[in-house]
Amino acid sequence: MISTLRFPKQSYTGWGSIAKLFEELEDMKPSRILVVTDQTLVKIGLVHQYLSPLNEQYDVSLYTDVEPEPSLACAERLAAYAREGGFDCVIGLGGGSALDLAKIAAVISQNEGDTADYLNLTGTRKLKTRGVPKILIPTTSGTGSEVTDIAVVSLEGTKDVVTHDFLLADIAIVDPQLTLSVPKRITAATGIDALTHAVEAFLSVNANEATDALAIKAVELIGGSLMNAVDNGEDREARTAMSYGSYLAGLAFFNAGVAGVHALAYPLGSQFKLPHGESNAVLLPYVMKTISPSCRNKLNRVCNILTNHGEERTEDEILTLFYKLVESVGLPTTLKEYGIPESSLSSLTEDAIKQKRLLARSPKPLGKDEIYQIYQMAFNGL
Ligand code: NAD
Repeated sequence: MISTLRFPKQSYTGWGSIAKLFEELEDMKPSRILVVTDQTLVKIGLVHQYLSPLNEQYDVSLYTDVEPEPSLACAERLAAYAREGGFDCVIGLGGGSALDLAKIAAVISQNEGDTADYLNLTGTRKLKTRGVPKILIPTTSGTGSEVTDIAVVSLEGTKDVVTHDFLLADIAIVDPQLTLSVPKRITAATGIDALTHAVEAFLSVNANEATDALAIKAVELIGGSLMNAVDNGEDREARTAMSYGSYLAGLAFFNAGVAGVHALAYPLGSQFKLPHGESNAVLLPYVMKTISPSCRNKLNRVCNILTNHGEERTEDEILTLFYKLVESVGLPTTLKEYGIPESSLSSLTEDAIKQKRLLARSPKPLGKDEIYQIYQMAFNGL
């Protein structure tokens, strides 16, 4: 069997790795840099703290019109801005929302047409050029966007992606100190997002031994540090483990793919504006219960790592374990708690079923009936 592993061209991880940004730019010698970030990160001083030295040496434009879970319109605005600006380097600094938009600024702006033309579900064009170099610096431990070739945008009803090798970072810098300021609830949601990446990659029909190794290490790191990072955001050890865990989970799912949890989460994000990590968290227990008959041994291995305790579990025990995990980090565990009406479960199902690329990687095929049942379980809870 032939298998392959893809990575960004270069990545730096670890406390203080942000210093590598300046060394890399010395080599790159850009003349006009576009920094894509969000307004919160400017307000809390994070952008100034880490990027202000750039202004002494380079011509830098700061773009902060970045919505959480960015819409297609938000992506198009940025692509138009980047096209006008004549930049020769893009730096994305932020959570997955800013990093995904940075990819669009670097690539779409250098190709013909709009972002919409390159969407996976409805797009008709193929990207022709790689665009300008991009440096991606995450400030949450969650999406893994810094190591994937994906940019996600929110549409009416669901989400869609632009995905191409050209979207891969030239340089990814994953420095845990940039995550110290992430508030409790966002730490919890993004942390469960990273865990979901690792677990779905591990269970994916496209998994191989290398992605399994990445995914298992990520589960160990995230399982051992998420609670501490949520309880005490200043805990450097926990932030470091979460940061590296999220990075490894990103590499695992970039290569093996995510599946059912993400397919069902996308409609929650776009129809009800749930943050991506929270959409995953509220579905994770119910998807795991549903697919467990098709991946019992692997799923049990994940559970044993998370509980530090080896045993065989029933479907209901698996459900309870993930439910308690989500509850323990302080996130809602039912759709009811989000005020999502039961009457919307059919339209959520209609939109989830469109995510064929994601659903195809599920170890257990998920058709319309199973998807509706998962939303129903997630509506009612345990
Ligand atoms: P986000 O980028 O939307 O950020 C959430 C909030 O956290 C924002 O208000 C932001 O300002 C704040 N924040 C970020 N870093 C902070 C810090 N250090 N201190 C204080 N506040 C901080 O959230 P996210 O979960 O990182 O990204 C979600 C987006 O990423 C979604 O659109 C999702 O679909 C996408 N995504 C992309 C990929 C990929 O491979 N490209 C994978 C998964 C998810």
